Amino acid sequence: MGIVLDKLPGVCGVLPGGAGVLAASDEVVNWARKRSVWPVTFGLACCAIEMMAAYAARFDTDRLGIFPRPSPRQADLLIIAGTVVKKMAEPIVQIFHQMPEPRWVLSLGSCSNCGGPYYDSYSVVKGVDKIIPVDVYVAGCPPRPEALIYGILELQKKIEKMSLARGAGATAQIETGPRRYD
Ligand code: SF4
Repeated sequence: MGIVLDKLPGVCGVLPGGAGVLAASDEVVNWARKRSVWPVTFGLACCAIEMMAAYAARFDTDRLGIFPRPSPRQADLLIIAGTVVKKMAEPIVQIFHQMPEPRWVLSLGSCSNCGGPYYDSYSVVKGVDKIIPVDVYVAGCPPRPEALIYGILELQKKIEKMSLARGAGATAQIETGPRRYD
């Protein structure tokens, strides 16, 4: 399917009426993607407890199509929930690379946004965006489950703006910066 999506803009470019087909494809693909954001089950510190609460019965993210998956191969959202110590930087990059495109990253809480209360520590990465591109930042220490859900809804708004013509197929994005949505 990824190869089809990658080739579609080129094929539509030479066909009469191709622009309409491409626009309709964007709408269908983006609708499917935003309604099935599957995060990988991965947590680092206290913020991960809030993330687990969001998945559990009271907040129940399943109703939004958000199903945590046990493998990065099956997931398209990496939630960085907790303090990113330098020792964990390499495994985080590895998990990110194991996820298929399109993949998104949500930074949950002050620690992963900028180092949080441990900003001065010798062992803490001062923001996960130093090692992987981040699509959405959620503030707080810790952010409540509602804040995480709000962050995912914001991500869904960004997904709505993705376009196959701008490389939203299955080809890996440039990994040194955030994904383009404009
Ligand atoms: S932001 Fe606060 S709650 Fe979240 S991991 Fe850091 S110290 Fe813990």
